[in-house]
Amino acid sequence: MAHDLLLRNVRPMGAASVDVLVKGGRIDAVAPALEAPAGVAVEDGGGALLLPGLVEAHTHLDKSLWGMGWRPNSAGPRLLDKIDNERQLKKPLDIDPARQSARQVAQSARMGTTHIRTHVDVDTDHGLWGVEGVMATRERYRDLVDIQIVAFPQSGLLRRPGTLELLDAAMAAGCEVVGGLDPCAIDRDPKGHLDAIFALSQKHGRPLDIHLHEPGEMGAFSMDLIFERTRALGMAGKVVVSHAFCLGSADRDLVDPMIEELIALDIAIMTTGPASRPAPPVRRLVEAGVRVCSGSDGIRDTWGPYGNADMLERAMFLGLRNNFRKDEEVEIGFAVCTTGGAAVMELTDYGLKVGDWADLLVVDGETVTEAVVTRPVRRLVVKRGKVTARDGRCLVEVP
Ligand SMILES: [Zn+2]
Repeated sequence: MAHDLLLRNVRPMGAASVDVLVKGGRIDAVAPALEAPAGVAVEDGGGALLLPGLVEAHTHLDKSLWGMGWRPNSAGPRLLDKIDNERQLKKPLDIDPARQSARQVAQSARMGTTHIRTHVDVDTDHGLWGVEGVMATRERYRDLVDIQIVAFPQSGLLRRPGTLELLDAAMAAGCEVVGGLDPCAIDRDPKGHLDAIFALSQKHGRPLDIHLHEPGEMGAFSMDLIFERTRALGMAGKVVVSHAFCLGSADRDLVDPMIEELIALDIAIMTTGPASRPAPPVRRLVEAGVRVCSGSDGIRDTWGPYGNADMLERAMFLGLRNNFRKDEEVEIGFAVCTTGGAAVMELTDYGLKVGDWADLLVVDGETVTEAVVTRPVRRLVVKRGKVTARDGRCLVEVP
């Protein structure tokens, strides 16, 4: 549902105070002292900052333990340990994807997120349980956030026969993006894995978003195979590599050619700004013209205990990881968590201009950088002109 709203006395990105009129869910006028049309709800911003809705471009809505009571982490150290641990715990712990995704969506909304790209597990133990649950949330809470679903072979694709067929079914059922995962380290068949997911992407006419944790030379090798296929299949602009730890290598002879290819093929990069792994150099990538987005990744799941779905905090983590100190540097991190995510998710009419969807956030603070550093309570969150959260509380009930 599209709504009308007059937002008085707010400062877009820290600029001078204006009023913002929303009609039919879109920004209709931005100017000082606008006339309030009859019957339109009015909100007083009190001179606070107006920001575009935050973009959570990489998370896992189906697997959060949010609201299920505290569970100490029990996963082993390797990636495969975490994968197997989770798959085995899903049913015994009753990690219901519909319920858990609804809970995380409400948390995201109260933190000012208006768009989410979520990877959702597809495997031979659980079939499309995750996809169906998150699709129900996508529909039920469509007035809260827009959700893009990546059909994600979390347990591997070729090492578990039947998964590719399930991924195909998930795409046919309405997932927006084809996922992939560590073609060397998990599937141990890089050519087979990548050929399969690129073919699926072509079959359904949908983009790709590939988890690539592989470090150093191994990651660079997988990257090379991704470049090769993106070029050969004419898929420039349709591929995202998530994590891409190999871009955090100190070896410039390894990294520089990869960045050249990212630019040439318009391949986007998602980084969480991880504290414990080599991470892609955000400023270098952004300044080179690479689309860069960010996300919380897993939030309080069987993989790890952290996360609160706050993309302002994520912007701070990006800043800490990349040694951003100057305001213009911190603003790069903020841009990654807003316009960067919008570019990667191919959102249209996103922003604070007249004509854009009124997906907005009002917080205290003088500047964008101050908001990133202080992460203030979200005074007002607006989705297509409708107030969805107020003073840090989501106005929509979830299970
Ligand atoms: Zn992930």
